[in-house]
Amino acid sequence: MDAQFPSLPPEFQQAAADAAKEDCFGPPAEPCLCFCLHCQREVMSDQMWFQPALKKNGKVDGFWMCPTPNCGGAGFGFDIFPVDPDHPANEGWHSTDDDGEWEEDAEGEGEENETGGVDSYDPAEPEYAELDEMEEDDDIEGEEWKLGLQPGEQPPETPEMAESRRRWEKEQERYDAADERPRWIDRSDEPDPPPPSTWSDEEIPF
Ligand SMILES: [Zn+2]
Repeated sequence: MDAQFPSLPPEFQQAAADAAKEDCFGPPAEPCLCFCLHCQREVMSDQMWFQPALKKNGKVDGFWMCPTPNCGGAGFGFDIFPVDPDHPANEGWHSTDDDGEWEEDAEGEGEENETGGVDSYDPAEPEYAELDEMEEDDDIEGEEWKLGLQPGEQPPETPEMAESRRRWEKEQERYDAADERPRWIDRSDEPDPPPPSTWSDEEIPF
């Protein structure tokens, strides 16, 4: 990964490069296709970028950010996981008693589950993300009678449904829009920086 941090003052470049290298949630040397838990999109690990955060006393840390514009997801192996269940970074998610062989077939996900359901459902798995989407899909074709409706009739959208739909659409719009995340953050005035998952516009100090 290139140790260049756009617009970061030169005196912090080296510290930022070191912080990027030392961060245990940095992407692997070998790029791989990943899935981000925040934006629920597939991303390439080598598109992740390090957002330096300046701390008190001239120290620098930061987060490896999701490539998706405006996504708050950060950290390879934290919010962003390889889609390949055999990838070493997924170790512990698919724990088995043997040498780690994961038998993959069309419907075999979760078969080797001997650890109490840990690997029966992993939202990081694209297959399950798709399932989620299917479940949220309000296509009721052929099942209208269950809701007391005429065939072809859609149930009225509840305020809650409309609200969550609007939130989802707005979120997707932001992920497709120009990236507004700052390339680096000045947290030198803040004693305790919040974790990346609570990052929001209001917290940007400029
Ligand atoms: Zn993301």
